[in-house]
Amino acid sequence: MIQGIWDQFLNIIREEAGSRVVETWFKAVSLYQWDSLQHTVFLQAPNAFVKDWIVGNYLDLIQLHLGRLLNVKTLRVVFIDACQEKSQAGSSTSSKDVDLVPAVLDKPKNALLKRLQSKNRGSFNIGYKFDTFVVGPSNSLASAAAQAITEKPGHLYNPLFIYGGSGLGKTHLLHAIGNGIRARNAKASILYQTADRFVSEFINAIRFNKVHKFQSKYNNIDVLLIDDIQFISNKEQTQEAFFHIFNSLYDLQKQIVFSSDTFPQNIEGIAERLRSRLAWGLVTDIHAPSLETKVAILKRKADLHSENLADDVAHFIAMQVDSNIRELEGALVRVLAFASITKQPVSIDLSKRVLMRSQEEDAVGVNFRKIVRCISRFYPYSLSDLRSKRRNKNLSFARQVAMFLMKRTTNKSLRDIGHFLGGRDHSTVMHALDKIEQHIEKTPGFSDQLRRMEREIRR
Ligand code: ADP
Ligand code: MG
Repeated sequence: MIQGIWDQFLNIIREEAGSRVVETWFKAVSLYQWDSLQHTVFLQAPNAFVKDWIVGNYLDLIQLHLGRLLNVKTLRVVFIDACQEKSQAGSSTSSKDVDLVPAVLDKPKNALLKRLQSKNRGSFNIGYKFDTFVVGPSNSLASAAAQAITEKPGHLYNPLFIYGGSGLGKTHLLHAIGNGIRARNAKASILYQTADRFVSEFINAIRFNKVHKFQSKYNNIDVLLIDDIQFISNKEQTQEAFFHIFNSLYDLQKQIVFSSDTFPQNIEGIAERLRSRLAWGLVTDIHAPSLETKVAILKRKADLHSENLADDVAHFIAMQVDSNIRELEGALVRVLAFASITKQPVSIDLSKRVLMRSQEEDAVGVNFRKIVRCISRFYPYSLSDLRSKRRNKNLSFARQVAMFLMKRTTNKSLRDIGHFLGGRDHSTVMHALDKIEQHIEKTPGFSDQLRRMEREIRR
């Protein structure tokens, strides 16, 4: 029965994260034991590399879906590796086993809770520091400015505004600033927040009559790092609140840093007085990395995984990925994982097999999942959001964009598109296409944005 549950779980993950994730990662893992008393599942990974990647990226999904299938509220996940299995084989499923295994992972079940906890701890992603950020011509100004304000927060460039395309290192720099200032001054109160979280925090503050508390929280920090500020557009009331927070922090010479996918003048639906403030300090961009920078990043990332990547292999991988560093990293990880699972050396040949195979998959036809992944980079919504019945304005809009791009880049029917996005009927999709066409006509710059997304999808 437990194997049946695992198979069912893999089907769900295939739905949620795509079959490549299942093939590359989850197929390498097996369900070793289920301790129903301790609500603990023991998974076996072939090596630490696969384990770390799954824990880093998919633990929430495991806890959510496997937890549901096993009918427990809080699932504990314990990884054992192949050697441990040998030493423990035959031992009973007792609570003692739980103590024997060092890597007990008790992460909270949902992502929101996780984010809240990390926020409460005031922590930043420890992998995102200046010393792991490779500097090249595409990002040198942004990186130098970020380092400078880390040394003298509030005194040099305030606010610092960093903009650039998806996956080019904006979030990394924001965290690096947070980590850097924290290392210099453990007492500094630093808050990293994405703009969409800021918006929902504000909405909740209104709902629960806690606007005052909300404002005083923000007014009492020393460094405010707001990621993806473009998500504040068209939220008038939130903008108003943010405007006051900005003024008060600015007057007190507290450092404020923004990231955005475009420069301030281009952010639509934002009040003029706020827009002008965004550009008061230093506005700097990050653009697509050169081939040399991509190679340097790959080698640095491989180092972090304790792998030595030969120049020619790094060069080959860098050539396969256009500019998005997140995708570059994804390509590298797939290659390293494949090499590790199949116990082969990392070579151009092996990289070709791994990366070409995935390109072929895409060539069969741009698939819906790829489109959703791309949408999620531009709008803060996941596949389950897009499929949900929720219809708030921004979510509905993102859903309509997804429908539009699905129609434009695939030869699937309106019915198929509606079906994929939460069982909607074809007339809803028709309506979405109309809406987006109207939006293109009304909104300068929007068709460029769509084109950019389309290019990413077809890449
Ligand atoms: P953005 O916020 O601009 O979409 P991220 O900061 O999330 O991009 O970066 C995506 C990934 O690429 C992260 O894993 C980040 O560490 C990595 N990355 C981006 N730029 C660099 C760089 N210059 N050096 C090393 N890693 C980088
Ligand atoms: Mg980001």
